[in-house]
Amino acid sequence: MTEVADAERLIAAHLPRFAARPVPLAASVDAVLAEPIAAERDQPPFDRVTMDGIAIRHADWSAGVAAFRVVATQAAGAPAAALAEPGDCIEVMTGAVLPDGADTVVPVERLERRGEQAAIAAGYRPEPGQFVHRRGSDRRAGDPLLAPGIRIGPPEIAVLASAGRHTVRVASIPRVAVISTGDELVDVDAPAVLPHQIRSSNDWALEAALVRHRLGTVTRARLADDERELGRAIAELHAGHDVLLLSGGVSMGRFDFVPRVLEALGAKLVFHKIEQRPGRPMWFGTSGAGKPVFALPGNPVSTLVCATRYVLPALRTALGAAPVAPEWVELAAPIELGADLTYFMPVAIVGTDPGIARAEPRPTNTSGDFVSLAGTDGFVELPRTKRLYPAGSIVRLFRW
Ligand code: AMP
Ligand code: MG
Repeated sequence: MTEVADAERLIAAHLPRFAARPVPLAASVDAVLAEPIAAERDQPPFDRVTMDGIAIRHADWSAGVAAFRVVATQAAGAPAAALAEPGDCIEVMTGAVLPDGADTVVPVERLERRGEQAAIAAGYRPEPGQFVHRRGSDRRAGDPLLAPGIRIGPPEIAVLASAGRHTVRVASIPRVAVISTGDELVDVDAPAVLPHQIRSSNDWALEAALVRHRLGTVTRARLADDERELGRAIAELHAGHDVLLLSGGVSMGRFDFVPRVLEALGAKLVFHKIEQRPGRPMWFGTSGAGKPVFALPGNPVSTLVCATRYVLPALRTALGAAPVAPEWVELAAPIELGADLTYFMPVAIVGTDPGIARAEPRPTNTSGDFVSLAGTDGFVELPRTKRLYPAGSIVRLFRW
């Protein structure tokens, strides 16, 4: 059987890299950048005035000029005016180009205006170069601004816009076939559910996870425990999708056909079963065409835990996303492991001491008890290197 860390590593080693495509800037929010972005111009592109006031030559003030003659006004968006005579100043607005010959800005709050004269308030001492954001002081033209792999949020959008990028290359989101298997399953909109049937919920939960994290566009399919029919339908779904994500039918039951069907279709097993609870029977392999195939156990807690622990990080990698820093939390109550397995314990983040989030265990009543997951934030990983995790233990959090 495979250890949790080995399962993660093996999956990463068998992933394709999804293609990139150009999209309009507005459509790139939350996507993974797939190209390096360099500065189009110096940033800022000119000596930028940062306060409304007057632009002066500092040397004039040092030489004793206290009241300056206002010879022009320089608004944002206007080409640079020039200071000519000693004792002259130019009225300037935030965002304006610093006038030629000027080096310092005195804010309007520090001035007394008398007609064409602007007098510096008594006792105020302007620093040379103050309130000027120097050309190129943030970045030089051609400097790298964004590296591929970054997830595009509001700050990155601002950088892209400033670099003149109205289209940008981002990682394509894979098409994922989310396949539920089980004779007992009926659809969410079935008008009646017989006593021996249940409504299928795993497919919805998996789609929600992929959509929430922008890691897949989903086709849902629900298949019966029929070996021939499974083979036919899975082959068809495989042809039109980049990833297969199955749930159910991977254990030791007489009708658990999924591993056999996948292998009959030419998929290569990478591992089956992980030293973990829940989700021990998970199967992972690659199809003949090299597409990743995740077959998760059907118990809904197992399904969601395996998807969150393995599938989401794998797809992030396949998209070329930069790794996200692990999140660590403190256990608010002790947890004792019942068996020699790595445990995944659902938790709710209940509060924070400065700098540390506290996680309250929310054990489920078997791995079929998905209702108890409602209101949790995710789960913590408790490696089997220890049997007892006292309150206060620092453990890794995986968010849904
Ligand atoms: P299996 O992995 O097929 O042995 O299923 C384990 C348990 O999970 C059984 O009780 C199934 O009824 C349940 N289950 C399987 N698939 C789903 C699903 N799509 N939605 C909800 N429960 C499921
Ligand atoms: Mg089943």
